[in-house]
Amino acid sequence: MTGKLEEMIGNLKDIVGEEWVVTKREYMESYLRDETPDALRPSAADDLILVKPSSTDEVSQILKAANEMRIPVFPVGGRTGLVGGCVPTERGIILSLERMNKIAVDKENLMAVAEAGATLGDLIKAADDADLFFPLHPGDEGAQIGGLISTNAGGVRAVKYGVMRNYVKGVEVVLPTGEILNLGGMLLKNNTGYDLMHLIIGSEGTLCVITKAVIKLYPKSGYSVTLILPFESRADAIGTVPQILQSGVVPLAIEYVGIKELNMAAEHLSEEWPVQTGSAQLIIILSGASEDEVYSACERISEIAEKNNAYEAMIAETREEQERILRIRSNIYTALKSRMVDILDVTVPMSRLGDLMNTVDEIAKNYGVYLPVYGHAGDGNLHIHVMKEDGRIPGYVKEIKNEIYGAGIRLGGVITGEHGIGKLRIKEFERFLSEKEKSLMKEIKRIFDPNNILNPGKIFPQG
Ligand SMILES: Cc1cc2nc3c(=O)[nH]c(=O)nc-3n(C[C@H](O)[C@H](O)[C@H](O)COP(=O)(O)OP(=O)(O)OC[C@H]3O[C@@H](n4cnc5c(N)ncnc54)[C@H](O)[C@@H]3O)c2cc1C
Repeated sequence: MTGKLEEMIGNLKDIVGEEWVVTKREYMESYLRDETPDALRPSAADDLILVKPSSTDEVSQILKAANEMRIPVFPVGGRTGLVGGCVPTERGIILSLERMNKIAVDKENLMAVAEAGATLGDLIKAADDADLFFPLHPGDEGAQIGGLISTNAGGVRAVKYGVMRNYVKGVEVVLPTGEILNLGGMLLKNNTGYDLMHLIIGSEGTLCVITKAVIKLYPKSGYSVTLILPFESRADAIGTVPQILQSGVVPLAIEYVGIKELNMAAEHLSEEWPVQTGSAQLIIILSGASEDEVYSACERISEIAEKNNAYEAMIAETREEQERILRIRSNIYTALKSRMVDILDVTVPMSRLGDLMNTVDEIAKNYGVYLPVYGHAGDGNLHIHVMKEDGRIPGYVKEIKNEIYGAGIRLGGVITGEHGIGKLRIKEFERFLSEKEKSLMKEIKRIFDPNNILNPGKIFPQG
């Protein structure tokens, strides 16, 4: 390590203490990557320092020093992202807030104050211990609060209460220049000028470092069940979704998955998927104040499904069985990962999901390839996997992806509804957004981060 970076090591040791500054490559390996499939994951730079502050004040001092010395800083969370967003792609500092992981639940206000390094698993548990509930469940519980907010994570249980943005009521952040800002609070209403907090949510570590957040919790529902509805035809399964929502029943989750992918995930976990009828299945999670309320919702859904040619539904009632179903569903990505080039997360209006799936089928047929699809059907958010061929990245990957993105846009959608732009989708960001949108976003980045030290080369092309 040479020059400015060498000098920075001493500064960092002064700020956080010697034991929290890591310079040996072998001790930072797991901080150099995220969960992006190997085929496309960007490589980490050679010269890197890993630093683990214990307070917002330390984060502020680190950013101030890095800004003065024009050294790039890469905030990392649980490194579960799928677009290379946290990968330190230039020589500089990896900033991990894992030591800042306290959570305090305020029962009266139904909110938690969580430090950015606490994990999704920690938050779910803290809410549960306080007899409350944090419904959102993006698949990997190792994700951290800072990462969940920076990516505006979604996931399975987003139909009833929305995505991460809908939970965040306040944030404490440190700007790349070192100033600390507190935005929002334990508030359900806040119209004080431009909403900087919501600008920061989803900004993928490019505008500021999130150090703490106020997060809305919900009462534990008295009762919850998971329904599996099997269909022979995918069109019938997908067509059922708007009808369920129109009926006034609002499930926590409505997922569409093919039996083939469910069986692969179950096998990957050495488990068995409990329903083997029907090639196309909907997984529906329902919650309510009483058994009666949930069962009448179940009946309503079963009637609608029957009219759409569903086979007999399975109802999972015990917590263990429901957790097993969610675990298998959450592991489809992991089961496919080693054979995958990329996972897309195109999102369209919910009613156009069937059209998007049909277009993906046509693309798969034209190229003669297997493109597994499944997704958050209640949100119009489809995961489409582009697979390797004979263990290699096929030459047509770029064309296939562009055709899928183009179809999504034509159907009134966006290229990403969950994972964000990160390092992987910069070309698509450049291609599918208007010039004005891009220039406004670049200006905003410049105002927050005048020297471009925070997560440079992400969302926007470098330079
Ligand atoms: C099996 C699996 C299933 C998944 N399912 C879903 C899903 O259903 N829905 C979904 O939305 N995502 C899903 N994901 C993706 C991922 O879990 C989410 O994007 C998650 O929010 C990332 O959080 P993280 O802490 O791991 O962030 P990281 O991957 O560490 O970082 C992500 C981004 O956040 C920034 N960042 C991290 N911490 C901070 C901070 N404190 N301040 C500022 N910026 C910060 C990083 O710089 C980076 O740009 C899944 C991933 C896996 C592996």
